[in-house]
Amino acid sequence: MRTTVIRVNPDDFDPEKLRPAARALAGGRLVAFPTETVYGLGADALNPEAVGRIYEAKGRPSDNPLIVHISDLEQLKAIVSAVPEKARILMETFWPGPLTLILPKSEGVPDETTAGLSTVAVRMPANKIALDLIRLSGVAVAAPSANISGAPSPTCASHVIADLSGRIDCIIDGGCTQVGLESTVLDMTVDPPAVLRPGGVSVETLEAVIGQVNADKVSEVSGNEVPKSPGMKYRHYSPKAEMVLVSGDSDRVAETINRLVEKNRAKNRKTGVLASSETRALYNADVVLCPGFRNSPETIAASIYRCLRDFDQLGVDIIFSETFPEEGIGLAIMNRLRKAASGGIIRLPPYSNKNGGHKKSRFSNPDEGVKP
Ligand code: AMP
Ligand code: MG
Repeated sequence: MRTTVIRVNPDDFDPEKLRPAARALAGGRLVAFPTETVYGLGADALNPEAVGRIYEAKGRPSDNPLIVHISDLEQLKAIVSAVPEKARILMETFWPGPLTLILPKSEGVPDETTAGLSTVAVRMPANKIALDLIRLSGVAVAAPSANISGAPSPTCASHVIADLSGRIDCIIDGGCTQVGLESTVLDMTVDPPAVLRPGGVSVETLEAVIGQVNADKVSEVSGNEVPKSPGMKYRHYSPKAEMVLVSGDSDRVAETINRLVEKNRAKNRKTGVLASSETRALYNADVVLCPGFRNSPETIAASIYRCLRDFDQLGVDIIFSETFPEEGIGLAIMNRLRKAASGGIIRLPPYSNKNGGHKKSRFSNPDEGVKP
């Protein structure tokens, strides 16, 4: 299949440029498009054959349901059968934006879109290209991230082209995305509402608007447990390289990682380190990549997937990564890093001097939020 790439300047474009892509969507074909979170791979959410093509193109397991994207609240009627009061407040406050709500589905939504569940995930993205595309297509658009299943989500069109060129009809290149991590998924069919996936809207921000939300379900489910959000059981967001997280005081993390780097070098493996800009100078790996600043977690979120892809491009065999405090967007950052880390996590005990006291880290934000 020939994939058409349409380049659009996100700051200044004529919506008519999106017309061929909108027509493709309405005709049951696949179009990748930018949102504020990551690039999405869209299909008509109410057309089971079109939705089936998404699973095929991505190699996505068919029991992992999709998020339906809308451009107008009017579209909700065809998607959900009820909007509880708290959901309405959240829509008013956070839409368009990186918040996905799980609601009871309307009859017309096919099983292919919800993986057979009686609920449906829905959101309105905060990206003008996405909104114009949905509006022009005249359909609600089911869209998971536009990557091969399991790989890091695409935050630039080049990532989509690398993964899906030749497998889908059209890619709209609208520059790199801003948030860089997927939307928060919030289950509104339980009380209190439950966060199934942390993302662009933090738990703290949600609670400030609707009171208590349950974040305990943000588990990295394994084995035979049945997750409430089917997507949680899969390995996700992973670079091809092996990846190990190291958590603890900054000095100690650097010491440990540098030791592991030496060990792996001795085995002729190309080593990588994912570090914050504040701590990058501490490392001596072959490749050190910095998604952003520790004291500005939004910058880390925005570039973390790009870094994971860059390690693979550079032929790195093993990546060692710092960890980040699990507050605000940090909860989503660590959720993705844990799923990406095939090699698990090394938790270092606090640095102590010979009197048993703690040596103070040289860095203001020693650790690290990974719960023991
Ligand atoms: P992705 O499309 O890859 O960004 O992932 C969408 C996420 O939303 C996955 O984790 C899905 O499991 C989750 N999701 C979608 N629909 C539902 C639903 N009806 N109930 C629970 N989780 C859902
Ligand atoms: Mg995805």
